[in-house]
Amino acid sequence: MVQWPRVAIVGGGIAGLAAAVRLCGQPVHVEVFEARRRLGGRAGSYWDAPSQQWVDHCQHVAMGCCTHYLDFAHRTGIAAGLRRDGTLHFFGPRSSRVDVHAAPLWPAPLHLAPSLGRLRYLSRRERYRIATALLQLARQAGHAADETNSMRAWLVRHRQSPRAMDLFWAPVLVSALSETLDRMAVAAARQVFVEGFLAHRSAYEVLLPVVSLAELYDQLVPEHLSGYQVRLHRGARIRRVAADAHGRPQLVWGDGLSQVFDRVVLAVPWRQTRELLEESTVQLVPELVAASRLEPVPISAVHLWFDRPFTPLRHAVLVGRQSQWLFHRTATDEGDVTAAAGHHYQVVISASRDLAARGAADVLAIVLADLRAVWPAVADARLIRWRLITQREAVFSMSPGAASARPDQATAVPWLYLAGDWTRTGWPATMEGAVRSGYGAAHRVLTSLGLPTPPPVRELPRGCLVRWWIGQQTFAP
Ligand SMILES: Cc1cc2nc3c(=O)[nH]c(=O)nc-3n(C[C@H](O)[C@H](O)[C@H](O)COP(=O)(O)OP(=O)(O)OC[C@H]3O[C@@H](n4cnc5c(N)ncnc54)[C@H](O)[C@@H]3O)c2cc1C
Repeated sequence: MVQWPRVAIVGGGIAGLAAAVRLCGQPVHVEVFEARRRLGGRAGSYWDAPSQQWVDHCQHVAMGCCTHYLDFAHRTGIAAGLRRDGTLHFFGPRSSRVDVHAAPLWPAPLHLAPSLGRLRYLSRRERYRIATALLQLARQAGHAADETNSMRAWLVRHRQSPRAMDLFWAPVLVSALSETLDRMAVAAARQVFVEGFLAHRSAYEVLLPVVSLAELYDQLVPEHLSGYQVRLHRGARIRRVAADAHGRPQLVWGDGLSQVFDRVVLAVPWRQTRELLEESTVQLVPELVAASRLEPVPISAVHLWFDRPFTPLRHAVLVGRQSQWLFHRTATDEGDVTAAAGHHYQVVISASRDLAARGAADVLAIVLADLRAVWPAVADARLIRWRLITQREAVFSMSPGAASARPDQATAVPWLYLAGDWTRTGWPATMEGAVRSGYGAAHRVLTSLGLPTPPPVRELPRGCLVRWWIGQQTFAP
């Protein structure tokens, strides 16, 4: 009987799960080893006893441009748990609401121009300068300096007022990249606007889960994988990955037990990859040393349970405030399913370094003041309970220079492959980046085994106006 090659995936976050999904149906034997009791990694939930529900540590949102994530979602069946919203609800500084959506008949990259024109909390001149800067940003592809220059410096050079930065550029970019304008690279900002807003009419649409992340990644994805005989090991922390006497990789557990494989995909966070390897292996993959220096950035989520709803919206973008996004995932057309245990809202603050010095009560006060300013009805609602969750190493910083520190999924060690949002994907630390890295690692594994690879995932097609103005530049490496 022919023995199929054995592939171990260490790390059951979205990158590791995506690698497994991409290997499904191939003549390889796949096992996933996840240290925690639940799969999904940073995209996880906790069990909330009062509401008897899974509550996400932090709401995760995908966009219409996330082609690989959507491919993963369709293959695994989690697409049924995502809801697409074609309108983004922006609330300006004086609480004026602007619904941002693609204008009928306007082709990309101009489809959002009428919405930009409605952002009346910006002056006419500011809106005009934003539009011209956006078109310039999209057009100027691939200057080496864009990897090393900060976006704030670029905006100053392109005559953007402080108000335009605070009320337009920051609200979009800080939540997309989880980094502040002065610390993000121009190239990263361009990728957000080109891929996320300009290149296709549906690129900007948001996909919000209607179920918890635990249901998506710890229930539905494993159900799909087990249909392909992928073996999933939860609570399996790998201590070391090293070559045995015959040069084959083996995984070593804390209790000293070990298992030999043909290929290993390391899909753990960037600061933990190096620790799992022997020094002699790290020397062959020096890019891991550079990657371990990628700077982590925190994201905070403030969970609030009120005795009554104050808005029926599932999401809102709060412009010019410390609270950046509001989510109300459990809102349905029929009402709020959490009503019995309180109406659950979540406020997300990306790049939340400034909050670290403040106590949780201070953070709550800021968030409540922001909400009251936008929805006066919050003042009448009783806050039943709340919880602040800050993930200190939520994502890595897309700072100037970071792109060159991200390694490819293939390494100089013939059996070792890397996956994770931090590897070189051309995308920031997102679920899309994680899936791209997992698919990339799976392709490289298959190629190394002399097996055919599945056809690549199709990117969103670009219309002739986009091709003329922006060209075919892609951000994939
Ligand atoms: C608060 C927050 C909000 C976010 N919001 C969004 C969003 O709205 N949209 C979006 O697209 N992205 C968002 N992200 C980013 C997204 O969650 C990540 O990019 C993505 O989940 C990374 O997946 P990954 O598999 O690369 O890494 P991880 O999720 O970190 O997975 C790595 C896995 O490896 C496991 N592991 C580590 N060491 C070992 C070991 N020794 N043995 C076995 N297993 C091990 C870990 O337990 C973990 O499960 C957010 C992240 C955070 C933290």
